[in-house]
Amino acid sequence: MKTTCKIAFLALLIGMAAGNAQENGKRPPIIDVHVHAMRVNPNFAATMCPWFLSDMPGSGPNQPAPSFINTACANPLQPATSDADMQAKLLEACERLNVTMVVSGDAAVIHDWHDAAPDRFIPSLSLSSADQMSVEAFRDSLETGFYKVMGEVAPQYQGMSPSDLSLDAYFAVAEEMGIPVGIHMGTGGNGMINISNPKYRASLGQPFLLEDVLARHPKLKIWVMHAGYPMIDQMIALMGANAYVYVDLAGFIWSYPLEEIHAYLRRLVQAGFGKRILYGTDLMMWPKLLETSIGVIENANYLSEDQKRDIFFNNAVRFFNLNPEDFE
Ligand SMILES: [Zn+2]
Repeated sequence: MKTTCKIAFLALLIGMAAGNAQENGKRPPIIDVHVHAMRVNPNFAATMCPWFLSDMPGSGPNQPAPSFINTACANPLQPATSDADMQAKLLEACERLNVTMVVSGDAAVIHDWHDAAPDRFIPSLSLSSADQMSVEAFRDSLETGFYKVMGEVAPQYQGMSPSDLSLDAYFAVAEEMGIPVGIHMGTGGNGMINISNPKYRASLGQPFLLEDVLARHPKLKIWVMHAGYPMIDQMIALMGANAYVYVDLAGFIWSYPLEEIHAYLRRLVQAGFGKRILYGTDLMMWPKLLETSIGVIENANYLSEDQKRDIFFNNAVRFFNLNPEDFE
């Protein structure tokens, strides 16, 4: 076979393989490690413009408080209109895009979604302060076997460090049971303190604050939600010193300026941590956000196809001890 002919033959084979994959309707699997289950409240449901923080509004204390999201753009994403609408659209998107989600939040909603499609949802138990649940109740919940993950743990919104001793007994239970933990660190949007969380402190999102937890619980698997954005140097130093720490890209992947997102992700990969990045959205009430966020990774021209697959799938399989064959 002549070389040109071989190339043509090869191209034909690749084309056929791609064609088959499409005929089966099967996209390669994606694991979204950061999804919030919540009741849809039509009074608070708002449209949302992705990357709305590209232009943070000028504001002042005697002016109206900034809004959490920007709704003024050509094609804002539409919120779900009811719980049933959210569930139906989410399940449809998960099937079409071949996405499995780690989901935390409203227990009844998680159960509904999980009952409807057990293979598409990995339930996660959220806890951010000791007032929410006793350590015994926390252990009992995990022992039912329904919850496979602990998160989102977000002490930063309460003005508390993740290494605060009040959380320590919970982390000890997660460590003992081999339950991975997702901790919110870094970004909270524009004006979080002014809008809704006066106790929130930017400084309590510093990745270095995890070092005491990691030292006290050497077998605890932690991933840093939102990748400690924008504290990239601390994030890289922490991941360098602690070989089991992963990050996810949730939240900032659809809210901050696109170039900024790519600069942050690129820096993580450039620093050598491509095998420790998890794909996540921070999905709340906008089902179309899945496509929006997936597109950011698919269009990242500085990532190889292997690196994209690591971020979308392989890293999560490793981190959560999943069986890749379950996704075939
Ligand atoms: Zn978060």
